Amino acid sequence: METEQTDIVVIGSGIGGLSCAALLARYGFDVIVCESHAIAGGAAHAFDRNGYIFDSGPSLYSGLSYSPSPNPLRQILDAIDEKLPCVTYDTWGCCLPEGDFDTAVGAEDFCEVLKRLRGDSAVAEWRKLQQVMEPLASAAIAIPPAAIRFDLGALITVGQFAPSILWNSANVLKLTGSFGQIMDEVIRDPFIRNWLDLLCFLLSGLPADATSAAEMAFMFADWYRPGVVLDYPIGGSGAMVDALVRGLQRYGGQLILNAHVQEILVEKERAMGVRLRNGKTIKARRAVVSNASVWDTLKLLPENTIPKQYREQQQATPECDSFMHLHLGIDGQGISSDLACHHIVVNDWGKGITAPQNVIAVSIPSLLDPSLAPPDKHVIHVYTPANEPYALWQGMDRRSEEYAQQKQTRAEVMWQGLERIIPDIRDRTEVTMVGTPLTHERFFTTTSGFLWPGNSRGKRVFSRIEYAITRIVVLWRFDVSWDWFTCCRC
Ligand SMILES: Cc1cc2nc3c(=O)[nH]c(=O)nc-3n(C[C@H](O)[C@H](O)[C@H](O)COP(=O)(O)OP(=O)(O)OC[C@H]3O[C@@H](n4cnc5c(N)ncnc54)[C@H](O)[C@@H]3O)c2cc1C
Repeated sequence: METEQTDIVVIGSGIGGLSCAALLARYGFDVIVCESHAIAGGAAHAFDRNGYIFDSGPSLYSGLSYSPSPNPLRQILDAIDEKLPCVTYDTWGCCLPEGDFDTAVGAEDFCEVLKRLRGDSAVAEWRKLQQVMEPLASAAIAIPPAAIRFDLGALITVGQFAPSILWNSANVLKLTGSFGQIMDEVIRDPFIRNWLDLLCFLLSGLPADATSAAEMAFMFADWYRPGVVLDYPIGGSGAMVDALVRGLQRYGGQLILNAHVQEILVEKERAMGVRLRNGKTIKARRAVVSNASVWDTLKLLPENTIPKQYREQQQATPECDSFMHLHLGIDGQGISSDLACHHIVVNDWGKGITAPQNVIAVSIPSLLDPSLAPPDKHVIHVYTPANEPYALWQGMDRRSEEYAQQKQTRAEVMWQGLERIIPDIRDRTEVTMVGTPLTHERFFTTTSGFLWPGNSRGKRVFSRIEYAITRIVVLWRFDVSWDWFTCCRC
């Protein structure tokens, strides 16, 4: 059977895998990325149906349209010399139990919303939180993620930021805890507490008490600075993926699609390469990097090749819940171009932010980039973020009537959320696709349709290395990749 050699094999072409591979190629390594699917990008891939270009996952970004930026993806694109033209905007829609309103990123606009909904004392609490977060936000961006490495080279890459690290050292320690602790010290107002829980959930898939303070500090640094804007890449999430693939290939790296890795080859406790499902072997002279989830990576490692305790520890990483998706192509006649691209719907604060079907995210990116839909049409992605129990779907036959029925029932909450934004949405629809946790599992190659490690509330204390990594997690789930990068490294 065919064998190929390279320096480094990267398993998976998600944003994490492609970023890692493109940087390695940029710095002179031979790299091959093996991707299970026919389309690169993992959770961020784009796909086309009847002339509508859909984002399969993310669409809310900041820090991509300017450099230097604290956004790790922008830093990688800068390093590989790739452009990513973006449309900028600042407003998003909120459909909350308190009512429906638009708000802009930036501190002042939110204070106006707060004054209207909760009065002056709530505004004062929010300002106090901003004061507390200000030094933490500077600490969170004190080291660019791209400078972080786990060998002696860190003396040079991180060393040059030593003055800034020293200056921020007291705050760096605070960043290793949960954001919930900071919130508890400052915020009493129930609406602000719910709001912060929501922001944490959107950022990390977890409520405030399980979200790292570093992630929220990074968000405060980015979202509440003067003149802040949000960014949407022209061409959608696919444009981001294309930029990374272009960079990878320009520096000599290879991307192989439809190349499912069946096994990581291990000899004398060293990762030596991978075997693909089609039998082909790719030998890695330097390292194997896994961009697959921790649970899926463990399955690729033959028994007894890593310490049992380590395997059990990693296997026990808690999972977050899965997702439901509604992808629509609609008739756009009469829809105002002032409608916000992103909306968040919360049905009931009392149920808790992680409750199934309680939070719904809506993105209508063709309002920002009309090239994503045919003329006078719009492309819409609605999803229930990390709150759909996988157990409801486990073992179902995707061709069965029961599955079709359940799809329809569980999608209803997304239709209802969308009706708060476009009341006659059901009459406008020309393309409809409902995705379930099983769709997730299939198209993102993730065990059980989970995307990232979930809630270990109360137990988790972030170590320094995790803190460094969580700064990368802010936008992309990179932690598993880097963890495995060090683990599988020769
Ligand atoms: C619906 C949704 C909305 C989101 N919204 C936002 C947002 O607005 N903003 C934001 O910043 N983030 C958002 N996120 C999160 C963001 O999309 C993810 O954190 C990020 O894309 C994950 O990238 P990754 O590289 O870590 O992993 P993945 O994208 O999961 O990539 C892993 C890759 O590995 C491949 N793979 C797995 N196993 C194998 C194997 N054995 N062989 C070969 N290939 C394999 C998979 O096919 C996949 O391509 C969203 C996520 C979802 C699902």
